Amino acid sequence: MNTKLLEQVETDYPEYRFVLGKKFAFRPSRTIVVELESSNFEMLLLHELSHAILGHYSFDVDIERIKMESNAWEKAKELAKNYNIEMDDEFIQTELDTYRDWLHKKSRCPNCGLTRFQTPDSQYHCPRCENLT
Ligand SMILES: [Zn+2]
Ligand SMILES: [Zn+2]
Repeated sequence: MNTKLLEQVETDYPEYRFVLGKKFAFRPSRTIVVELESSNFEMLLLHELSHAILGHYSFDVDIERIKMESNAWEKAKELAKNYNIEMDDEFIQTELDTYRDWLHKKSRCPNCGLTRFQTPDSQYHCPRCENLT
C-alpha cells in the first residue's frame, strides 16, 4: 500500500535513487533510504525527499541541523499538496522535539551542566570551564 506514493515520487524525481532500508534517511548526494514498514511512510518519504531537494549535504554545527529539519518539513508540506497527502503537524512537532532534546543533551557541559556553545569546527566549548580567568 505504501508503494503507490513511492512509485509516483520515483517517476517525478528520477534524479534520486530510492533504496529500501531499515530506517528512513537521506544519504547525500542522491540516495534516499526508504523504510517501507514505517507507520508514517508518506510524511517521512516526503521529508527525506525534501532534504535531497534542499541540498542538505552536511552540517557542521548542530543548530544548523535543527534549522534543516524544520526547513525539510516545510518543504515536505509543500510537496504533500501535489500528492494529496495529509501532513500531521503533531507528528512533525514530535520529530522536531526529538532533535531539540538531542541538541539540549549534547550541548550540556559534562563538568558543570552549563549549556555550551559550538564553534564552526563542530567543537563544543563551555564558557565556565574554559574561561578560568
Ligand atoms: Zn530530517
Ligand atoms: Zn562547564
